[in-house]
Parts: sequence; C-alpha cells; structure tokens
Amino acid sequence: MWRDGESCPTALPPGRFSFYDGRVSTGTVLLAEPRGYCAGVDRAVVAVERALEHYDETVYVRHEIVHNKFVVDRLKEKGAVFVEEVDEIPEGSLVIFSAHGISPKVREMAEERNLRTIDATCPLVTKVHKEAVRFARQDYDILLVGHDGHEEVEGTAGEAPDHVQIVNGPEDVGKVTVRDPEKVVWLSQTTLSVDETMETVNLLKERFPTLQAPPSDDICYATQNRQVAIKKIAPDADLVLVVGSPNSSNSVRLMEVAKEAGAKASHRIDNVSELREEWFEGVKSVGVTSGASVPDVLVQELLAELAERGFGDVKPVRTATEDLMFSLPRELRQEMKARGSVDTRKKPTGDSATAES
Ligand code: SF4
Repeated sequence: MWRDGESCPTALPPGRFSFYDGRVSTGTVLLAEPRGYCAGVDRAVVAVERALEHYDETVYVRHEIVHNKFVVDRLKEKGAVFVEEVDEIPEGSLVIFSAHGISPKVREMAEERNLRTIDATCPLVTKVHKEAVRFARQDYDILLVGHDGHEEVEGTAGEAPDHVQIVNGPEDVGKVTVRDPEKVVWLSQTTLSVDETMETVNLLKERFPTLQAPPSDDICYATQNRQVAIKKIAPDADLVLVVGSPNSSNSVRLMEVAKEAGAKASHRIDNVSELREEWFEGVKSVGVTSGASVPDVLVQELLAELAERGFGDVKPVRTATEDLMFSLPRELRQEMKARGSVDTRKKPTGDSATAES
C-alpha cells in the first residue's frame, strides 16, 4: 500500500504476471507502462507534503495541487487547506501554487496580500509560459491549442492576454482572426491528445501556411508516453479502463485515445467503486492505464478487483522507460536547507539527471 513518504509508488500487486507476446486470451489484463505519476505531479505532491512537515503554520494550496481526488483528499487529511482564490487566504500566509501554473495576475494578487509562495508549477508548463512571453514580446499572434477554462490554459493565456487566442479544437479554426498571417505561432496545453492537436494544427496551417510551431513539443513527455502505451494495447482490448479523475485532462484524453486506437469500449474511473457490471459483458481482455496524476495504489486496487472477476493474467506492456525527476520548488528547498533537511526522494539511476527548475 501507499505509505507516507512514498509519493510515487510503482510496486505491482502480487498475482500472475506474464510476458506480452502480442497474444491475448480470456482473462488477460494488458497493463500499460508507463502509466500514472509523472515527474511534475510527483514534485507538486511532495512539495505539499514537505511544506506540511516543515512549516509550523497552515499550508494553503490554490486549486487542486494535481487533478486527482484521492491525492487531494489525502493531503487535506494531513492538514493542507485548499482554496479557489488567493483572496480566501489570510494576509501574510503561506500558499502553494498548483502544478498547472498561474497567470501573472494571480502572482500579483498574492503579492498584494503579502502571501509567501511556493510555486509547484510543473517546469514543463513553465516552459510553455516562457514561450508565450517570448512570442508576445516579438508581437506574434499566439494560437494556444487547449481547453478554454482549464487552469493550465488560463495560466498560459494570462502571460500574454493581448496576444493569445485559445483554439479548443478543429471547430474553432474558422473563428481565428490574426493581424498578420505571416506572424503567427501555435502553442498548446501540455496534456492534449497528440493526434487531435495535430489535426487542429494542420487545419490552422491551411489557413496560415507560414504558421510557426513551438520551439519544442508542448505536449509533455508523460502525456505522449501514456498515449503511445494505450495505443499499443487498445486494439487487443475489449475493454480499456483508465484510472483518473474527471477533471484530469490527460486521463480523459487517454480514454478517448484508447477508443480511437481500436478498443471496443473505454471508460475512465476514479477508483474501483465506479466499475459497472454491464461493462464486462462479453469481455475477454481488459487494458489498464492511469493518468499522470494517479498514484499506483489505485491501479493496484483495480488489478485486485479484476482478478476477482476472472481477469488475473496481467501482461505488462512497456513502450517507454521514464527516468526523470524534478527538483523541489526553490523556495521550499531553501527552507528545508535552513532546517538541515534534504529531499529524500529516490534519485533517477539512468542517464537523466534530476532536472533543476
Ligand atoms: S502531465 Fe506533463 S506537464 Fe503536466 S505535470 Fe506531468 S510532466 Fe508536467
């Protein structure tokens, strides 16, 4: 089980595991690897946990630190106080900004209230913010492909509100207006479907042939890796189950991608209690994955439940190996250092170093 201090558990439950050779039989579970926690989520959740340990005061968190109900409920139990806006926080208090990022306006509001801040924005979201700032300085029209109303999109658009237009998908392409068709760039939310985004971008290119692309992929490594894994599994799965909360963009995308890639049926669940009997009618093989904000304990519970239902032959399907860790937010590192404490997370052992943010 997931114990305190283990923020990125990956242990598999005891049971029958066998090599995936492209064949499935009745009772097979194809288990996606990678799945679950990404480096940005791990960093954000650990930041709240360490802040609760190191500060002798209430730790406020603006918005859900990551989009997962289980994680947020657990941090609430430990004492974190979640708020929607900084004006709900007493002046001078400590607040953590979530992994999805904030607009400069939120930062200003926090300063006006003399709040002390820990910024847990994922460094890969910060990268997109910086791109928006840079292209706005060069006076580009920025077409931000993403979901209007999503916190990350609000934060990125807020970096350059006079230059950014949000493009939700192909249906929005015809509505876009730009000042100079030769000076347009597209950026995107980090957690979109790769295929759907490229469909939108290709339509934008038909309208603006010299449309510039982001300097590097905005859809992050974790989103892409999880989509590649489920695409491999989906054609062999009668039913795909994606563990993730309804407000988790990358989890919802995984469910859609699975269906598009050939799964006969695909459903997202927060936890095993949401399984429905009728989903299993006539099902021989099940594909399982989880969104980037989902602790693996929830997948382990699902595997145990599936075994009870006769799906006990678990075949891991690995399409990538992830070995990335982001260092904790600078403000927190300084506080921990002052108190003689260090980040005890297990460091990556492969080629990739711990990335500084
Ligand atoms: S899904 Fe990607 S962008 Fe979002 S927190 Fe994880 S690594 Fe960062």
